[in-house]
Amino acid sequence: MSSLAEIRRTVSDLHQELVRNRLVAWTSGNISARVPGEELVVIKPSGLSFDELTPESMVVVDLDANVVEGEYAPSSDTATHCVIYREMPEVGGVVHTHSAYATAWAARGEEIPCVLTAMADEFGGPIPLGPFALIGDEEIGRGVVQTLSGHRSPAVLMRSHGVFTIGDSARSAIKAAVMCVDVARTVHLARVHGDLVPLKPADIDALYDRYQNVYGQR
Ligand SMILES: [Zn+2]
Repeated sequence: MSSLAEIRRTVSDLHQELVRNRLVAWTSGNISARVPGEELVVIKPSGLSFDELTPESMVVVDLDANVVEGEYAPSSDTATHCVIYREMPEVGGVVHTHSAYATAWAARGEEIPCVLTAMADEFGGPIPLGPFALIGDEEIGRGVVQTLSGHRSPAVLMRSHGVFTIGDSARSAIKAAVMCVDVARTVHLARVHGDLVPLKPADIDALYDRYQNVYGQR
């Protein structure tokens, strides 16, 4: 089991993936991870630039978003992350970004239809649209939980806002965030020049099953 110090380092380091993959601008965007076996979450501090982040600057909160350890205030999205961890015990990591191509779909209030094998692989269908909610309290988190519960997709486009992704770890939630903006970009480009061709549900099921259960190193 990972120690709290290791999780602080992992969460701090993983924020560089958001920068490397161009998912964030200025200080927007954040990552958190659950501390296994504890009612605790490690999350980015609010308002620090990505190159200022260190393991020591990460904030430890309980599942009600109260600060347990840390010299900075936690991310302004902490209440959202905490609702997800409380309501979805299988979730070990949460990522939030305003990445451009994915957020463009959220700005139009549209889900991303499943028209690519890579979408079927990772998301098992369309990337769903969640409700509009004001930032600050638990309403966004409830919208994320409602939309993703019982859905295969680890990503949700919150209307007029941005993307939340979940995973069994922070790293898998980042993978979903990277894949989400990648397919959002491709499907956007496709639609500029014509109509989209949906995949058949049976083909989506077969692709999802192969990718989730057979693909890669076992
Ligand atoms: Zn946001």
